[in-house]
Amino acid sequence: MKENKNLGINTICTHIGEVKDEQFKGAISPIYMSTSYEFDNVDVKRYPRYFNTPNQEMLCKKIAALEKTENALIFGSGMAAVSTTLLAFLHKGDHIVLQQTLYGGTYNFVVEEFDKFGIEYSFTKDLSIASFQKEIKENTKVLYIETPSNPLLTITDMKAVSKLATKKGIVTMIDNTFASPINQTPVDFGIDIMLHSATKYMGGHSDVLAGAVAASNEHIEIIWNVAKNLGGSLSDFMVWILERSLKTMNLRVKRQSKNALKMAKYLAQNTNVSRVYYPGLKGHPNYKLAKKQMKNFGGMLSFELNDSINAMDFMNALELIKPSMSLAGIESTMLSPTQTSHALLTPEERENQGIKDGLIRFSVGIEETKDLIADIEQALSSLQ
Ligand SMILES: *Cc1c(COP(=O)(O)O)cnc(C)c1O
Repeated sequence: MKENKNLGINTICTHIGEVKDEQFKGAISPIYMSTSYEFDNVDVKRYPRYFNTPNQEMLCKKIAALEKTENALIFGSGMAAVSTTLLAFLHKGDHIVLQQTLYGGTYNFVVEEFDKFGIEYSFTKDLSIASFQKEIKENTKVLYIETPSNPLLTITDMKAVSKLATKKGIVTMIDNTFASPINQTPVDFGIDIMLHSATKYMGGHSDVLAGAVAASNEHIEIIWNVAKNLGGSLSDFMVWILERSLKTMNLRVKRQSKNALKMAKYLAQNTNVSRVYYPGLKGHPNYKLAKKQMKNFGGMLSFELNDSINAMDFMNALELIKPSMSLAGIESTMLSPTQTSHALLTPEERENQGIKDGLIRFSVGIEETKDLIADIEQALSSLQ
């Protein structure tokens, strides 16, 4: 495939970035597991940690096509992508502004590691643009957002953030994991760098740990220069698994988003539920903004049960939906952020982020929603 421009999303998922099997004409990409390649007359010295094996290079084309960027890099985990990219753009004495609600691992990376590098950071008080503006200093080099965010599905105004940053020559980064490129392409709103935990919707089957970053050639080169030193590349076998997963990403994510909207509506009218967080519900404080910047509202939602019901008891009573740490697989899962993703935060930090002990994060799968509803109903009635 030479030209990506006018291809439909399922065609991009299926075909862009295939490794052609010239030798046997197989239907799928062969895997090149070599860690050693001859460097005859070419400049390219192929080596897995240089992110340039045939499978790595080709899969980057698919991810770049999905995010509508010039280029991409694939990493051994989402945190490898996040940490490498941040360290590529932040030097000693630089400052970064990060939004208040962030994935727990990203938050920990910043507060536990940045002091060692002499990098300054500030978190916004809320998600308003005034709040971002207030934290920007002379030495601010990066603005970092996550929308929808984990676990409360808050929405940040991508266009307003990018406008603010561009005016001041600041690089913008987004963790686009929750939306996936299927539901949201942040370059359309002026964001520079897209980060992914490919462990989530890109992988989609709870069997791949990987990360990705998509950006312009210029930005990818800056990231690559640090990435080859930090050594966070992904093995070619896992690259190949990820390629297979991405072929069905649009089908999966569309279905999950449709299911999540149905489940959010169901939970919102359930008298055992006190609150539902889902950007696709008209009652969500940023419903209009979400509608403007997202194609669908994604497969993730959160809810709070009435105080009389213990969240852990409820999750243990489920039979079909699994209480589970990760998210975005084709199977539905639930977890308590207090016990897992945000367990390392202090109770005050959680309180600041609005994460209550009774909060449950729901990663909606591809099952029939009637079966998911039946499971929730039986779990609730078993606790009466
Ligand atoms: C899981 C996740 C990460 C970290 O990814 P890993 O693959 O676990 O390293 C980063 N951001 C978000 C939003 C996530 O959900």
